[in-house]
Amino acid sequence: MFDLRDLYQQVIVDHNKSPRNFGKLEFFNHEADGYNPLCGDRLHVYLNVNDEGLIEDVSFEGEGCAISVASASLMTDTLKGRPVSEFQQKFEGFQHMVTADLDETPDEEALGKLAVLSGVREFPSRIKCASLCWHTMKSAIENSKEAAKTE
Ligand code: ZN
Repeated sequence: MFDLRDLYQQVIVDHNKSPRNFGKLEFFNHEADGYNPLCGDRLHVYLNVNDEGLIEDVSFEGEGCAISVASASLMTDTLKGRPVSEFQQKFEGFQHMVTADLDETPDEEALGKLAVLSGVREFPSRIKCASLCWHTMKSAIENSKEAAKTE
């Protein structure tokens, strides 16, 4: 039988090995730092929002575990080209997915490729690794001067 979990695993490994949107943007008007002291993951996100409120470009740099890097790669891929007003909804959808009961099937239609991270529900210590990039992106959008922390 086709095993969805194997596919999810492959996608995470791929995004960790060759993260999308990795590196500093040449032009950006938002940025923020994020830190997950529990695991030691550090991220910096760059964001260029245009006059129409569209996320024209987004990228990240940093060092962390496979989950934190894959999650940032998937997040930037998901947000690129989307209206910044959609961020909160996507963030909430993601948070719900990684904290939902194990028997709840992720809403793949709403989550898209982010659904590959639904497995972190089984590893509570990894939830913060997966959500660090989202907290960091929220700080960047709000232009918060303080580093986002998962603790
Ligand atoms: Zn981590």
